Amino acid sequence: MPSFKILVTPGDGIGPEVMEEALKTLGRVQRMFGHEFEYDEETIGGAGIDKYGVALRPETVAKAKASRAVLFGAVGGPKWDDPKAIVRPEDAILGMRKQLGLFANLRPVRVHPLMLSDSTLKPEVLEGTDMVVIRELTGGLYFGQPKKRWESASGRQGVDTLRYSEKEIVRIMHVAFQLARQRRKKVTSVDKANVLRTGQLWREIAVEVGKEYPDVALEHLLVDAAAMQLLRRPASFDVMVTENMFGDILTDEAAMLAGSMGMMPSASLGKRRKDGTGIGLYEPIHGSAPDIAGQGKANPLAMILSAAMMLRLSLGLEAEAAAIEEAVDAAIRDGYRTPDIAGTGAHVVNTTKMGDLVAERLG
Ligand code: NAD
Repeated sequence: MPSFKILVTPGDGIGPEVMEEALKTLGRVQRMFGHEFEYDEETIGGAGIDKYGVALRPETVAKAKASRAVLFGAVGGPKWDDPKAIVRPEDAILGMRKQLGLFANLRPVRVHPLMLSDSTLKPEVLEGTDMVVIRELTGGLYFGQPKKRWESASGRQGVDTLRYSEKEIVRIMHVAFQLARQRRKKVTSVDKANVLRTGQLWREIAVEVGKEYPDVALEHLLVDAAAMQLLRRPASFDVMVTENMFGDILTDEAAMLAGSMGMMPSASLGKRRKDGTGIGLYEPIHGSAPDIAGQGKANPLAMILSAAMMLRLSLGLEAEAAAIEEAVDAAIRDGYRTPDIAGTGAHVVNTTKMGDLVAERLG
């Protein structure tokens, strides 16, 4: 029986609640498809600070490195919110990304046909939207040096540096083109080539890498146009790839197309093997939602769909991933909703029940 090592970090707030439902779904997948998922569980984030004094221990990182993937709940909460604190729950996610060399953040945006009216956009604009936004995670303005503030005779000053290397752009482009090959074969590369030197480099390399994928169409958009077109013609996009800060903004904009954060999974990927798989960290895009923690109101679908992404992108289990996505679709189609996505006439269920409904629909 094939065995896969997975590190599970439930985290804080609703993290452990939604994680339980993802593990329930994976348990059903194991039995149906005859796999063995070997879990290691680690306390991280705020819970890690309470237990160990740090959000992420070196032991946890070592376990992550020895695993095929990390299934990550969410971290944070008012208890650990002091901005002056030396250790913060977010250290867990940032540290994990850095230590595992995760450089590509993927956010699929798919609007379920029965949930078209839950978005702030008109259903006819949204219909058919099914895209993945890829954000580069390690370069750009957030990390470039110099980065500092200082006092001068003319007042306070600040500087951040936008720097990208050829290597960083090449590797993220390959992630985009390889993903597009498995989808509708279109990449939209987003830059600011009309103003920024890094934007020109980004576009130049997108074209060069694109030549290795003649079967994939490449479109370029300036970031301002991309922000507009996401609201105007979202269904026209397949894979959108962009640098760190533009991606930070566009991924949140794109996420809102789909309505609730409780439906949105994500993956952060590192180096890929020849077969396209490799280590990754999988988490819902939402946070720990302290306002609803412990009340059974959390929507577990984003976490369950993150587990499906893990099966596809780190374990190479495409049929199993698709089975989970179909089971989620079926639960929605059958009219079940958690409170965050409940429209009129919906059958409102709690976190555990939604997990049961998905597991039942698996087989
Ligand atoms: P949040 O995503 O936790 O919550 C925003 C709103 O969405 C809340 O009203 C919440 O109830 C609702 N919501 C979120 N997930 C939901 C779900 N699955 N089902 C139903 N409703 C859901 O964002 P926030 O309130 O700004 O942040 C809370 C904490 O989470 C903060 O400490 C923040 O730093 C942290 N956070 C962590 C991550 C992460 O772990 N990657 C990401 C974002 C925020």
